[in-house]
Amino acid sequence: TPIILWFRRDLRLGDHDALTAACASGRPVIPLFIHDELVDGLGAAPKFRLGLSVGDLAQSLADKGSRLTIRKGNALAVLREIIAQTGAGAVYWSRLYDPDSKERDTKVKAALKEDKVEARSFAGHVLFEPWTVETKTGGFYKVYTPMWKSVRNRDVPSALPTPGQIPAPAGWPASENLDELRLGDAMQRGADGLLAHCTVGERAASSRLGAFIANRVADYARNRDLPAIKGTSGLSENLTYGEISPRVCWHAGWRAMHDGKTDAEVFLKELVWREFAYHLAHHTPRITTRNWKPEWDDFPWNSEETAEVTAWKQGRTGIQFVDAAMREMYVTGVMHNRGRMIVASYLTKHLLSHWKIGLDWFADCLIDWDPCSNAMGWQWSAGSGPDATPYFRVFNPVTQLDKFDKNREYASRWLAEPYSRPSQTALSYFDMVPKSWQLSPNDPYPAPIVAADVGRKRALEAYAAR
Ligand code: FAD
Repeated sequence: TPIILWFRRDLRLGDHDALTAACASGRPVIPLFIHDELVDGLGAAPKFRLGLSVGDLAQSLADKGSRLTIRKGNALAVLREIIAQTGAGAVYWSRLYDPDSKERDTKVKAALKEDKVEARSFAGHVLFEPWTVETKTGGFYKVYTPMWKSVRNRDVPSALPTPGQIPAPAGWPASENLDELRLGDAMQRGADGLLAHCTVGERAASSRLGAFIANRVADYARNRDLPAIKGTSGLSENLTYGEISPRVCWHAGWRAMHDGKTDAEVFLKELVWREFAYHLAHHTPRITTRNWKPEWDDFPWNSEETAEVTAWKQGRTGIQFVDAAMREMYVTGVMHNRGRMIVASYLTKHLLSHWKIGLDWFADCLIDWDPCSNAMGWQWSAGSGPDATPYFRVFNPVTQLDKFDKNREYASRWLAEPYSRPSQTALSYFDMVPKSWQLSPNDPYPAPIVAADVGRKRALEAYAAR
């Protein structure tokens, strides 16, 4: 009887435990993607980007003589329908660790078992599954560095080859047309602009990793903090949809480190930050919705869409680093990590606005949106999350710009108003924003809505009064 391979955030054929096991069984394999409630609930940019990834997977499967079935509906209902139509006796998938996916998958697994259908989940989305990493006393890690130390020398199994053949069933179930699912429809700014900034699919992800290891990893430690240059891997948009496996990235980094590119260790450390995000989300699922440190529940966050919050979203705070980064995200669907830390600190500390506002806006704008990394990043930045620093960290967005963008290469790439001859990238922002925002590159650049030093003082006072 056929095996249904339910693809979710593992949209690749190489180094895929579940697919390899299914193919090795010799049974026919029915690859399936379900546009279920969780897909429906995605923000505009991630949903659009997911559609591109699904399209790429469909093509890769077709190249192997297989076919991706695409269906819209409740995951369990769709699976049952396809099982009834095809006589499939098993459903395989790769495990996810965010609370919503876990809740869905647990229900699906239990229901399939009741139906007497084999339901098997596999590793593949992380290097170290959250329950396999423990502190000396048997608990989970709440601080990053000890977790890094505990996993850095672990043996990571070799990556699996792409299956040579994917056995086809006697007949294929009916499929919906990907275009008709219209995953890009929620994009206010039009899909074409964002498309130019996406690097889609398994093959492209693999080339991207190769180019990073060959050309950039050797200087990663220094360059990764400079937002004006391409100093990082850019792999987050691929990792989030599983177009490349973390294992492949880990081995590439490990080899580079042993070939004398010592900076590669910093890259491995970043991959473990991603692991830490899943570790935390698995052990403390509240991280995606509530203050990770409950003592923050009484903090007087603003939760309203105030004029200040709107200015933050639109990149009109009058603070150059914040505005450049917010505009970069709107145009490209990604934001440099330094920018993410700066804008998050400014929203939650200078503007004293709730991290959930930022979390939701990022979830709408980022093509690399990841439920666990985004939540950890926001809570870390707000102070309510797993930051080991014993004091209240308030980034100064002005001195940070001086330090990391001394020549204003980044600021001038994304800001038009302060410059008499603005760059094309800076102007492209104004073409993409909705008309209703009423923004023009000819407007004067705003004065800071909350100046760096004023906001810092206010934030420290609010923190002290907690
Ligand atoms: P590289 O520097 O090349 O790092 C390699 C990989 O390591 C990344 O692709 C990513 O998978 C992982 N990684 C690196 N830094 C982090 C980190 N701090 N936390 C978790 N994983 C990390 N990352 C996302 O993938 N999705 C998100 O939705 C997301 N939201 C964030 C929100 C905030 C407020 C902050 C502060 C950070 C967020 N990050 C998120 C983490 C980080 O900014 C991005 O992973 C990174 O900028 C991606 O660029 P890169 O692929 O070039 O990274």
